[in-house]
Amino acid sequence: LAQRVSRFGTTVFSEFSALALKHQAVNLGQGFPDFDGPDAIKEAAWKAIQGGVNQYAPGTGAKDLRNAIAEHSQRFYNHAVDPDTMVTVTSGATEAILDVILGLVDPGDEVVAFEPFYDSYDANIAFVGATPRYVPLRPPDAEHATWWFDRDEVRAAFGPKTRLLILNSPHNPTGKVFTREELEFLGHLCAEHDVKVLADEVYEHIVFAPAKHLRAATVPVLADRTVTVSSAGKSFSLTGWKVGWIIAPPPLRDAVQRAHQFVTFATASPFQAAMAVALRLPDSYFQELTALYTARRERLLTGLRAAGLQAYSPEGSYFILADIRGYGFEDDVAFCRHLVTEVGVAGIPPSVFYGPEHRHLGQRFARFAFCKTDGVLDEAVRRLREKL
Ligand code: PMP
Ligand code: GLN
Repeated sequence: LAQRVSRFGTTVFSEFSALALKHQAVNLGQGFPDFDGPDAIKEAAWKAIQGGVNQYAPGTGAKDLRNAIAEHSQRFYNHAVDPDTMVTVTSGATEAILDVILGLVDPGDEVVAFEPFYDSYDANIAFVGATPRYVPLRPPDAEHATWWFDRDEVRAAFGPKTRLLILNSPHNPTGKVFTREELEFLGHLCAEHDVKVLADEVYEHIVFAPAKHLRAATVPVLADRTVTVSSAGKSFSLTGWKVGWIIAPPPLRDAVQRAHQFVTFATASPFQAAMAVALRLPDSYFQELTALYTARRERLLTGLRAAGLQAYSPEGSYFILADIRGYGFEDDVAFCRHLVTEVGVAGIPPSVFYGPEHRHLGQRFARFAFCKTDGVLDEAVRRLREKL
């Protein structure tokens, strides 16, 4: 076993999905929809396979998909993207994140990120021999309507070794959507320290009014230093397809592309053809997705609260964090184990999304995913009301 992987067990997602299966629990753990994306996209993939789109795609991504990514950026964010010099298609956002870190961060560098973090960030930072500097997001309180961060804590995390800031908005698992003012503050700090930004925006189309997604790369102070990462998984309910992409100014795209060419070289070609169709779906598709998740967020929030849990309403993403203090468990892992084995509902213990220093902050929550059909959400709530 190499040292770089020796501290990694099975990811929490695999562990709790397996437990859910074993105990026939309703799975609100791992974030994947229990319904498929639009038929038009699936048909485009079949057609591509039947039509002979089955050999390696160009390393930077199929031309038509890169064009579609640029059109989508223009349509939703008025973000001008040159498809030939600013885009690389990857095998999911997960690969994109690794490519960005490989391409921009050296051993001994520091990477700033917010906690709770998406778990691959921490592993990828370790892969390159860099050091993470984590700043915890704080839950809503009397003074803050949404999750927030302490600006002094962020300032203190930056130093001469800082190379990259990872910014995930809409944020998994708190559902926070960063505001323009917050992005500008972070952008000025990055400019001051000459730091690049990885903007993980995979939940860009799952945002609830009045919150509004702002693409970090369109904030002027961030424009030249930001690599945007997104993927097909969440916006098109096709998490198994693993098609992602990065968008960046040419010099940053070049750095990421250098890594990508030796990580996977290229991404599955028929799925790329289908994703070009997906990104060109009419506005009504994206509006319906938002409407669907707005209703499901309400359904699960109401249900969790009826079961006695203090649940925070997310501004974006398809996750809800609920406060589990008061149930007498040692921590979130113990609570989630009990939930899956005795109550028959799987959630995710968010303390795994924290470094050792702030892990205790995550131990008071459980994460529930609402990318599930109404009947599944209702059954989870029924079990929670009956047995929790
Ligand atoms: N970033 C975040 C914040 C996520 O929640 C996910 C999905 N689990 C990913 C990245 C990875 O996306 P993909 O499935 O496209 O690799
Ligand atoms: N993004 C998904 C989540 O947060 C899981 C992805 C994975 O299993 N790696 O639940």
